[in-house]
Amino acid sequence: MSDMIGEDLIKQASERIAPHVIRTPLVASAVLSDRCGTQVHLKLEHHQLTGSFKLRGAANAILQLNLMERQRGVIAASTGNHGRALSYAARAAGSHATICMSHLVPKNKVSEIRRLGATVRIVGSSQDDAQEDVERLAAEDGLCIIPPFDHPHIIAGQGTVGLEICEAMPRIATVLVPLSGGGLAAGVAAAVKALRPAAKVIGVSMDRGAAMKASLDAGHPVQVKEFRSLADSLGGGIGLANVWTYSMCKVLLDDVVLVTETEIAAGIRHAYQHEGEVVEGAGAVGIAALLSGKISRLDGPIAILLSGRNIDMTLHREIINGLNASRDTKCGP
Ligand SMILES: *Cc1c(COP(=O)(O)O)cnc(C)c1O
Repeated sequence: MSDMIGEDLIKQASERIAPHVIRTPLVASAVLSDRCGTQVHLKLEHHQLTGSFKLRGAANAILQLNLMERQRGVIAASTGNHGRALSYAARAAGSHATICMSHLVPKNKVSEIRRLGATVRIVGSSQDDAQEDVERLAAEDGLCIIPPFDHPHIIAGQGTVGLEICEAMPRIATVLVPLSGGGLAAGVAAAVKALRPAAKVIGVSMDRGAAMKASLDAGHPVQVKEFRSLADSLGGGIGLANVWTYSMCKVLLDDVVLVTETEIAAGIRHAYQHEGEVVEGAGAVGIAALLSGKISRLDGPIAILLSGRNIDMTLHREIINGLNASRDTKCGP
């Protein structure tokens, strides 16, 4: 297919962003390996600068802007981590970021974006509301839109995680990837399938408002209602006018698994208690899927991508202490 990001663009992205990102470790999980009866490795991408893989796509996009574009500045809608990554990358490149977010974005993410010097706009109660604001401001002020997932430079940047997994473990058989708009899953799947065609790539979303899953089931991009979730970074739609990630996920993903809030909490707890890792909800969905037993055939070696660590630490403590059950039921639209 011509409308897919391939291995070449991902390898170029990898070279371009190398000086600006961390090559994160892929480590064995003894507990999960024992439990599954096959090798399970964790890609510790939550150790990435800015606390999530989003820096890879943001850096790859900003580094391809010319001087004039950088001077005018960049703008994006974000559930938090893209905004943080873009603010960081913009500052490093001598540019300025404006980030539009909905009320659903957690406070810890908003304040970190402010700290990085970006202009923050809180608008409406969904990603779609924030996106409208982005388009209006970009037109008025000549800002360059850097979308959170549906853009070739973003997908290629996120795909570098897949490249690193294959380089560290050439015989990889299964990769579990958190899935929302699909920039990460599309890029990782493109890299993995190019280097190791036999490997399976499985997307994991939360069961509350999984836009890509609903779209794949419908056969075209559809809108879903947005809910509060422990996996706040997985919120938002894929865009009804989706150009890249929908078709790539459709072709490249072998399956999409959905996890509940309780399962996500169990994933966060496992990461902390057995792996010594602090991850946010979205970063824990791969572990959650594995622990839930919802993945039908487990071919090893398995790599689970831990995508981010930007969780409110009070909430994290509550989850570790098993106090999140009440939050579960409180999670409303
Ligand atoms: C953005 C994000 C995701 C989902 O990435 P998409 O490219 O939108 O599918 C997963 N985990 C974390 C921590 C994120 O910030």
